[in-house]
Amino acid sequence: MTGLLWFRNDLRLHDHRPLQAAVQAQSPLVPLYCFDPRQFGQTRFGFAKTGAFRAQFLLEGVADLRRSLQALGRDLIIRVGYPEVIIPELVRALGIDTVYWHGEVTAEEVAVEQDLMAQLKPLGIRTQVFWGATLYHPDHLPFPLEALPEVFTQFRKQVEQRSQVEEPLPTPTALPPLPQVDRGALPALQDLGLSAPAPDPRGVLPFVGGETAGLHRLQDYVWEQDCLKTYKETRNGLVGANYSSKFSPWLALGCLSPRQIYAEVQRYEGARVRNDSTYWLVFELLWRDYFRFIAAKHGDRIFYPSGLRGLGIDWRQDWDRFEAWRSGRTGFPLVDANLRELAATGFMSNRGRQNVASFLTKNLGIDWRLGAEWFESLLIDYDVCSNYGNWNYTAGVGNDARGFRYFNIPKQAKDYDPEGTYVKLWLPELAALPAAKVHEPWKLQPVEQKRYGVRLGVDYPRPVVDLAKSVQANEQIYNRARWRRT
Ligand SMILES: Cc1cc2nc3c(=O)[nH]c(=O)nc-3n(C[C@H](O)[C@H](O)[C@H](O)COP(=O)(O)OP(=O)(O)OC[C@H]3O[C@@H](n4cnc5c(N)ncnc54)[C@H](O)[C@@H]3O)c2cc1C
Repeated sequence: MTGLLWFRNDLRLHDHRPLQAAVQAQSPLVPLYCFDPRQFGQTRFGFAKTGAFRAQFLLEGVADLRRSLQALGRDLIIRVGYPEVIIPELVRALGIDTVYWHGEVTAEEVAVEQDLMAQLKPLGIRTQVFWGATLYHPDHLPFPLEALPEVFTQFRKQVEQRSQVEEPLPTPTALPPLPQVDRGALPALQDLGLSAPAPDPRGVLPFVGGETAGLHRLQDYVWEQDCLKTYKETRNGLVGANYSSKFSPWLALGCLSPRQIYAEVQRYEGARVRNDSTYWLVFELLWRDYFRFIAAKHGDRIFYPSGLRGLGIDWRQDWDRFEAWRSGRTGFPLVDANLRELAATGFMSNRGRQNVASFLTKNLGIDWRLGAEWFESLLIDYDVCSNYGNWNYTAGVGNDARGFRYFNIPKQAKDYDPEGTYVKLWLPELAALPAAKVHEPWKLQPVEQKRYGVRLGVDYPRPVVDLAKSVQANEQIYNRARWRRT
């Protein structure tokens, strides 16, 4: 009797149900990670499906998992190839009888699981598949997933009143023996067709992948820096390590379990303070849960241009304007700074994401899937459910979208970057402008352009659209789609 534990987006040893089940079985165990070449291909619109930042973070996460298993006297078996081919090969070669893993909910991931099941079934292999990515387990929700409320607030209220978060499972201190097997080498970025991204000192945090770094960040943010107690006030920030938790990259690869975070919040509330901020971090984790449950309920609809709502909006695929957007050259400093931060670091704040997504869809009228795929390629915290779920909502095709809502970019800039610190950090060409002018450079008179050393159309672009007119035009397109639907 031998087991195989297939690691996927769950690169950790704490709070890991498949691992617990495999340990309890007490048979020799093969812990495996497969680098699936399909994850390193191209997206529909031709971007690297896993760009260099994300791939590097993943490599670090897998390396860390290997080190942790080695510290327990075992190892991580690493392969490059399709899991549905590699796992049956190992099953045959090593006489494996049970395969354990965490199930996923979205099309590509589910297709791999189904193919694997189809390969294992005729071999008579047992499969044990667990749910593991969310704070709340679907079995503990007050409704079946098919009856999940379509509005977040309804979901949240019911869950808060009637469901419990389980305690995280402990990290095993001993593991079953590892059979004789070639361990396999960790690929380098170059093997995945990518080159190492240059680190940018302006980035919010020097993110390092892996459970060790994730748990360290949890400890640091909550306890050492003592930031949890002010999270609600700081969470809309744009500059620095601690305006928000930055847990998302580790959550996305499962290096941190949300239940571990929840347990830490509870401990903090007992030991230091319980207030709106400590509640709000859990509230945000509920959004993350919600998007995963929504994806499980609605399947492929989150990927359709018409979204969960089924709105047939005439999206544009204007590549010149998309290029201006993604390279941070739209002429709107808040939008440009955020997109340059993303391109230079693989991260962007939540406030930034909402603004750039609103601008792409409500001002440029561009197909939201281009933006979503660009995020997929770059974000180190890319999570299929959170990314496509949030894009659905910001594009106005989410299921509880309340009409045509958009962000007023200059107002947002003044509210969240009043001194212009953020835009000046990422747009050095605007560094000499006073705060009162930095968010609207298009208003600069020729004499001011000279004074501040910014020539519009030369050093910094003129706006690619008129904000008010573009919003009006896209609102009409949106409303036409709504009328067609009703
Ligand atoms: C267009 C768009 C795309 C996005 N794509 C992703 C993505 O691919 N992966 C991702 O993890 N988040 C995504 N988000 C959500 C959010 O922007 C990030 O989770 C957040 O900025 C991560 O930073 P943080 O960990 O410091 O967040 P914090 O503010 O500290 O929040 C704590 C945690 O709560 C969760 N959370 C917070 N806000 C959201 C939200 N709106 N939706 C889902 N979960 C949330 C995250 O897990 C986050 O780590 C997206 C948002 C938008 C508007």
